Amino acid sequence: MLEDLQRPLDEVQGCKVLERVAEHPDTTEKDIELARQYLDDPNWGAYSLANAFRRKGINVHKDSITRHREKRCPCW
Ligand SMILES: [Zn+2]
Repeated sequence: MLEDLQRPLDEVQGCKVLERVAEHPDTTEKDIELARQYLDDPNWGAYSLANAFRRKGINVHKDSITRHREKRCPCW
């Protein structure tokens, strides 16, 4: 029953976007997966995606999103 306490942090280490997502207390593995999908989705601008994360209580800078998208991010 305690398996949910496992923080999905290992695979996101160094990624300023996914780290912030993983740090949120309600984040699940599924959320990490969804965050990756949003990051891959060209319909989401960096600015609006940062705002959408912020509304969920996740403070991500749009530059971190851009950096991730340009693959200048350790999570690739
Ligand atoms: Zn990344």
